[in-house]
Amino acid sequence: MTEFVLEKKSGWEYYHLPELTAAGIIHGFFTRRSPSSVFDKEEGRAFLDAFSLEDAIALQQEHGQEIHVADNGDRPGRGDGILLARRGIAGVIKTADCLCVVLADPAFPMAVIVHAGWRGTLKKITTKALNMMVERGAARQRMIALFGPSIRGCCYEVGPEVCDAFMHEGFPEDVFSRRNDRLFLDLAKANGELLKDEGIRAVHDVGICTYCSGGVFASYRRGARNERQVNFVAIKDR
Ligand SMILES: [Zn+2]
Repeated sequence: MTEFVLEKKSGWEYYHLPELTAAGIIHGFFTRRSPSSVFDKEEGRAFLDAFSLEDAIALQQEHGQEIHVADNGDRPGRGDGILLARRGIAGVIKTADCLCVVLADPAFPMAVIVHAGWRGTLKKITTKALNMMVERGAARQRMIALFGPSIRGCCYEVGPEVCDAFMHEGFPEDVFSRRNDRLFLDLAKANGELLKDEGIRAVHDVGICTYCSGGVFASYRRGARNERQVNFVAIKDR
């Protein structure tokens, strides 16, 4: 299920779900044709202006499961998720193969953005994000999940120890595929499994593999070492 569109806005190019944007949750999965930093002085200003934002928050990501609640104006340090209840503040996650997951309840409104590589997925950061939203008053039946571009089952070869760890955590075997004695992990499928029985309204997957994207997205496994793409979500200012 994808109804994402590729949009261009003052030099920024990104995928978004128009239905969710119209409902007041602004978000984007930027391509490499966009500036890669939203914290650089010039680009940062341009980013905030383009999306009518007051501020943007990013973390020192560390493949963990720490999710910060951005509600009192403090600047979180390390972590892999940002929960937003205040308007006009963007939570930013940078990726280059890992999956960015956004969850939003547009009517409440509340949103969360997480960084889910294999380690974060194994630690079920997406489940944690959902539970944090529900604890704070968001409703499962209104909740929409978005999966951004990431390395996919076509290209994400992993070792048997990764598969063993996932089996140990109760993931179904079909989040992996086997081809010519090689093992591939599908991060989107694994995170889909985490959300499957949670009673949320919809999961929308942009369905793009960063490794196969022909350079439209940065891929760590394709050689991007310092380059990351920006993913963000924010509750629109009234
Ligand atoms: Zn691929």
